[in-house]
Amino acid sequence: MRSNIILALSLSIVGASAASALTLNVVATLPELADIASRIGGEHVKIDTLARGTEDIHQVVMRPSLVPKLNKADAVVYLGLTVEHTFLPGLLNVAANPEMREDAVKQCAGPGCIDCSEGVKVLEKPSTLSRSEGEIHPSGNPHYNLDPEEGLTIARNIAAGFSRLDSDHAADYRKNLKVYLAELEAKIVLWRKWAAPLKGVKAVSYHQDVPYLARFTGLEFVGTLEVKPGVAPTPSHLEKLVERMKQDKVALIVREKQFAPKLPGWMAEKTGAKVAVIGTMGKAFPGTDTFIKMSEHNLQALLGAVGKAP
Ligand SMILES: [Zn+2]
Repeated sequence: MRSNIILALSLSIVGASAASALTLNVVATLPELADIASRIGGEHVKIDTLARGTEDIHQVVMRPSLVPKLNKADAVVYLGLTVEHTFLPGLLNVAANPEMREDAVKQCAGPGCIDCSEGVKVLEKPSTLSRSEGEIHPSGNPHYNLDPEEGLTIARNIAAGFSRLDSDHAADYRKNLKVYLAELEAKIVLWRKWAAPLKGVKAVSYHQDVPYLARFTGLEFVGTLEVKPGVAPTPSHLEKLVERMKQDKVALIVREKQFAPKLPGWMAEKTGAKVAVIGTMGKAFPGTDTFIKMSEHNLQALLGAVGKAP
């Protein structure tokens, strides 16, 4: 009898430790998503990241070394709205993981897919979905990670996904989510105060990745150096843009880190506007490995360029 009790006790201890040692293998497409996923998942998740952060989000290359990670993954966390089109669907196809299959529209289909864009108020949504004529924003503008407010949406989506896949630890994910939301919300209150001098300031950007940044800061973007998303600048387009900038008294040129400084610098000389360099993914700059640090860095860059550094 006594030995039976000991056996039962030891079995329950083994069972408990096995359950708590269960780890969700997570692959995040972008560094700032990996950061939020690690904050929500805590000790229950192991996270790998696909993009390096210094690349153009529309041109991240498929590295075959990433296939085994996706093959073994329990979850893939991604920005969605087809922004990972150059690497995620292709890697999912080769990885042959039944929990997360390539999908032409949503990029990923299956229980392991955690699409962070669920519930995002999508801007520039077209009436028809098409990749014709080189369209690289076919599902609407996908660069919502540049609005700090959408960090809250991303965190909620990740917590819901982890809880669905690992219900044993749902209470922990809820607790971690609460802590993270409180931290980010406090930052957002601070950043709103910082951003006040940007309201109504006219600007241009290299790529059309700023509408969510505009929504948060009140910046007014009047054009892009690219002819349209993914189509490189041409001399005639830039000449017209310079005229427009002079007419509209545009004070700010936003250069995303992945684009060379030459053309924005030339436009600054022509117009007197100042250049701010921002990152469109975490880790674009040293010390911007988290969503919060990335958001803060970008805001400081914008404010610094217009002489209103916080
Ligand atoms: Zn884009």
